[in-house]
Amino acid sequence: MSNLRHYIHELMHGNSFFSGQLICKYSAIGVGVVHMVNALLFFIVGSYVMMIASLLGGTLYFTVILRLVKKSRLLTMYLLGFAEILMAVFVTTLLVGWEAGFSSYLFASVSTSFYFTSVSQKQERPHHALPLVLSLMVMFSYFMDYVIRLYVTPILPPDNPELMILVYIFNNIVSFALMIVFSYLFVWEILNRQRVLAEQNIKLDELAHKDPLTHLLNRRSMNEILNERIEILKRTGRRFTMILGDIDDFKKVNDTFGHEAGDLTLVTVADILRSSVGEEDRICRWGGEEILIMISSSLELGAVTAERIRRNIENNVINYEGSEIHITMTFGIAESIPGYRLEHLIQQADDKLYYGKKHGKNQVVARLPEEEKN
Ligand code: GH3
Ligand code: MG
Ligand code: MG
Repeated sequence: MSNLRHYIHELMHGNSFFSGQLICKYSAIGVGVVHMVNALLFFIVGSYVMMIASLLGGTLYFTVILRLVKKSRLLTMYLLGFAEILMAVFVTTLLVGWEAGFSSYLFASVSTSFYFTSVSQKQERPHHALPLVLSLMVMFSYFMDYVIRLYVTPILPPDNPELMILVYIFNNIVSFALMIVFSYLFVWEILNRQRVLAEQNIKLDELAHKDPLTHLLNRRSMNEILNERIEILKRTGRRFTMILGDIDDFKKVNDTFGHEAGDLTLVTVADILRSSVGEEDRICRWGGEEILIMISSSLELGAVTAERIRRNIENNVINYEGSEIHITMTFGIAESIPGYRLEHLIQQADDKLYYGKKHGKNQVVARLPEEEKN
């Protein structure tokens, strides 16, 4: 019971699909039950031939058709059921008359033709023409039913024709229920497929734009962003600042604690960076243990942000299999100036980072000594 509740919950939240096989199984059981109810109703109205025919029809669903579902031969199962229904409509109208209300099943058969041929198909070879052909057969069958109604007197009229209204109401309710249910199933199917596609798109987007280890932007997407910002700078004069950072002695982390510890360190650094910058700022894994941050502020504010990041990293302890890993980072900062080329800006940040590495690491270099003199 709790399993069923869980399944319904998953369905309602779009985390699960109605599988084609499940729908076919319950449809076969449902149609089998409808035949049995009809057998009972035909018994009540005193139409014993129809009662036997309904019992035989029901038996077909509970045996052959259910076995086909089990063997996953869903299309064969549907075509057999389809033929049985067309035949049942014809025979019923001929024997007991139009009042049995069986012709309404023909309308439902159009919806189910499209539904079942679509869920039973192999993705690579969709059936385009089949549901259309089936629907045209349904239309033909409907007019044949109409002709019988107009020109043929029922061959075996029931003993209690006044009770035929029960059969009529029951079969019409079932037909409407089928149309409603299968229309909903179609909508459900479309919504689920849309959801799956949206999720796949997010994953593809991640793969295309993000570094798989740290989930920071990759170099390619950062280049796109920077080129865009250079264009904005040219048009509007709106500047930005670039912070290039590199983990100090990272090779030692790998050598001492192993590559996995190195990976964990990179992930931790990425988390610290994400929590240290603003919404508009962009962080990228520029190289192995090199990161590049693009922030929408001046050099001075960029230096304040970089210093905050440096301190956060210095104060952070990474626990790895009982060991404590301490790391530091060195940063070089460059501010965009109208007329600067991107390569020039990166080169500037790189020069400052190199200077910081040469002069004790674990520091933020916003200006080189020769710039300070100016
Ligand atoms: P420095 O302070 O001068 O930056 O020294 P360093 O040891 O950090 O610099 P170096 O460039 O010599 O070493 C960088 C190391 O980063 C070498 C490489 O194996 C490691 N590395 C690069 N990418 C990854 C990665 O994805 N995972 C791990 N675990 N290590 C990586
Ligand atoms: Mg390094
Ligand atoms: Mg490096």
